[in-house]
Amino acid sequence: MLGNYFSRTDITCKFSWFVFKCITMNERIEGGCFCGAVRYSFERDEYLSANCHCSMCRRISAAPFVSWMVLPLSCFEYTQGAPKELSSSSHGMRYFCKECGTPIACILKEDPENINITICSLDKPQDFEPKTEIYTNDKLPWGSKDMHRE
Ligand SMILES: [Zn+2]
Ligand SMILES: [Zn+2]
Repeated sequence: MLGNYFSRTDITCKFSWFVFKCITMNERIEGGCFCGAVRYSFERDEYLSANCHCSMCRRISAAPFVSWMVLPLSCFEYTQGAPKELSSSSHGMRYFCKECGTPIACILKEDPENINITICSLDKPQDFEPKTEIYTNDKLPWGSKDMHRE
């Protein structure tokens, strides 16, 4: 049962995300983990992005949701270190820093040409606002309430 649930999650992600073909440009976008052991970069372009509210993203990041951007693997490279792999379900591999635990990326077996990267591991996540929300049935009820501000 658990396996079926995870499969449904990854298939939802796959059908929810498309990516535009990568156009070669000079500007590189950079990101990395909390401790700096893993660094990556990719070519700036228009990529689709989404906040994923699925329970697997939530648990693996220990955050209410994860903001993802999907881009062609051919546009992406690790510039320092290498992440640890985790087979998080039969449909996908997750990648995170083995030193500090920062979630970096996810690659779906059904979509091996593309890599999903965590927007909040970018050096400037403020420049990449997610445009859609996916798996909202799993969204935490308190996730978007207006909070009292101190
Ligand atoms: Zn790290
Ligand atoms: Zn998810």
